Amino acid sequence: MKIQSYVTGEWCSGNGRVDTLVNSVNDEVIGEVHSLDSGFDSVLDYARTTVGPELRKLTIHARAELIKLLAKYLLERKDDFYRISYMTGATKADSWVDIEGGIGTMFSYTGIARRELNNDTFIVEGPVEPLSANGSFVGQHILTSKQGVSLHINAFNFPVWGMLEKITPSIIAGVPVIVKPGTVSCYLTEAVVKAIVASEILPKGTVQLISGSVGDILDHVNEQDVVTFTGSASTGQMLKSHPNIIAKSVPFTMEADSLNCCILAPDVSVEDPEFALYIKEVAREMTTKAGQKCTAVRRAIVTADMMEAVGEALINRLKATAIGDPTQKDTRMGALVGKTQRQDVLSAVETLMSGNEVILNGFEDYSLVGIEKDQGAFMAPTLLRCINPFKNTVAHEVEAFGPVSTLMPYDGIEQAIELAKMGKGSLVGSVITKSAEHARDIILATASHHGRMLVLDAECAKESTGHGSPLASLVHGGPGRAGGGEELGGSRAIKHYMQRTAIQGSPSSIMAITNQYTKGAKTTTDRVHPFRKYFDELEIGESLTTHRRTVTEADIVNFGCLSGDHFYAHFDEIAAKDSFFEKRVAHGYFVISAAAGMFVDPGQGPVIANYGIDNLRFVEPVGIGDTIQVQLTAKRKIKKTKKPDDKYDTGIVVWAVEVTNQHQEPVAVYDILTLVERLKKIIN
Ligand code: NDP
Repeated sequence: MKIQSYVTGEWCSGNGRVDTLVNSVNDEVIGEVHSLDSGFDSVLDYARTTVGPELRKLTIHARAELIKLLAKYLLERKDDFYRISYMTGATKADSWVDIEGGIGTMFSYTGIARRELNNDTFIVEGPVEPLSANGSFVGQHILTSKQGVSLHINAFNFPVWGMLEKITPSIIAGVPVIVKPGTVSCYLTEAVVKAIVASEILPKGTVQLISGSVGDILDHVNEQDVVTFTGSASTGQMLKSHPNIIAKSVPFTMEADSLNCCILAPDVSVEDPEFALYIKEVAREMTTKAGQKCTAVRRAIVTADMMEAVGEALINRLKATAIGDPTQKDTRMGALVGKTQRQDVLSAVETLMSGNEVILNGFEDYSLVGIEKDQGAFMAPTLLRCINPFKNTVAHEVEAFGPVSTLMPYDGIEQAIELAKMGKGSLVGSVITKSAEHARDIILATASHHGRMLVLDAECAKESTGHGSPLASLVHGGPGRAGGGEELGGSRAIKHYMQRTAIQGSPSSIMAITNQYTKGAKTTTDRVHPFRKYFDELEIGESLTTHRRTVTEADIVNFGCLSGDHFYAHFDEIAAKDSFFEKRVAHGYFVISAAAGMFVDPGQGPVIANYGIDNLRFVEPVGIGDTIQVQLTAKRKIKKTKKPDDKYDTGIVVWAVEVTNQHQEPVAVYDILTLVERLKKIIN
């Protein structure tokens, strides 16, 4: 079988480097990759000039919708991917993380994009910044798609998740992708890309695949491109310092080796449920994916008096892990990705052994389920003990990328903190403790050295996603030796593929660009009440100024009786005089209720429901005898996708509301959100 590349809209293989791919379980040859030997500049160019413009025509929500369709399509074919994944040495559980974890990330991003970002081709970020005394000059940040391509150079360990978690935010950002998987497991990535291409869901060429070497591609990336890398620190640093990357300031996101730690806090004794949790967590992190995980626990940090008990419990648990053919039901740990990787792990363990003792040797005494011992790239979990981790620092420096961890002691919280930081920057660290005080002390002192931190106790253990699982909504990446990159983390990841620009001008110009009403911009009025208009008929900036209403004591008394709110500032003449307001004032909630009564058009019409209130501020008090008036302005419109159970096609209209007093001073400002019916003939 020839593993192919998919570039410039075609499947092909080249005349470059030839790699033979081997089943890591039984050593059978799977096929060959014939790397492309030239034409990498045209691969980039095709993405920039043919695909990018098509992708950028779609709104962010429309791109997210395609990702959702694609996720469903891939999920329906997951069994094909599981079958192939076994050849990488992964068990069903390992493959679940890779395959369904990757597809799950696509689903998560569909929601994140629709919830957090506007339905336009670009993002309007943060509030309008006032830049002048009279409000005629303002600023606003926007993010637009980079007009290039994102090149993802991925590691071998997660051939599916590693691709999907990166291409998803890039595609939603409007930037086409080129994926280069780790060669040793690239046949699984190829299978998923084959399905992506066959689905024809994304604009043609949105995802290109380079199997094998990427040749001179880095010589051709330019100022609008983005490069991401996951793999070893040495390769990452070499690529990051490529002269063309530096010369063109190409953003380079790197996720590299990480010596993640797991601290057992001093409050936990052997009898506590947290002790068992610690053993389970460390053992699971050592054995999932046979320890070939960037987030695996490499350093188990425990108090000196717990070294014996933790060592014994870990060894017992690790020895009970059934290793072997990943297709067998009883197998809990599969093979490493290949024999070269096994050799690399052995070399790393030999280095780690200098001054440290091996207390569980995974290269010697072990048996395999359903497989001959000399077949495949198997090894058993290996545990080392480092007696003086401040003097012998090798465990803080060398990553054995397999089921390998080092146990080390500390004396007092300060030492635990020091050891955690000796990893010089990690993707993830965890603390297992019953003590809120210990959790706080350790997290605040070590967060600067970590991208993500888990505090595990009996209270959250049942639902915890664990030390090793990156999540779509939380950042993944760490400082220093972990590469200094950041992925995922909700909409942050989408923004990595976009350019943030500060735009300045008059409120009217900013409104015209962003399609969002900005205070001070020119508004329009119509004889038809805005609540009588369908979603598609409303113009941004369309405004209604209501009649006036004088607030009376009866209003305050009635509202107090209705709501039960008899706070002294509304009802106690003497206390109110001594108060901050120096008089009795109306309830703030009365003011916004009265405002609704003034701007609402009561008859049946296209406005279906009040959806919520955002950004409410009571600016000035309203006293008895003050006269209020309301201005309601269409600020932003968000089209909604109709779900099968929805009765109507709708959109959300965000209205800027300003309630003013008789001196034209604002007394309350806020945004209300209404669900408004779409005009049937316009729906798209
Ligand atoms: P590498 O750093 O060698 O490779 C990572 C990716 O970079 C692969 O796709 C590889 O492609 C590619 N690559 C390598 N050299 C170049 C180059 N000159 N130009 C462009 N791309 C290049 O890591 P490995 O996958 O070989 O793993 C080696 C070690 O790295 C592991 O043993 C482990 O210690 C660490 N590692 C850490 C990970 C983490 O997330 N922390 C993940 C994976 C590995 P190709 O496969 O074709 O060489």
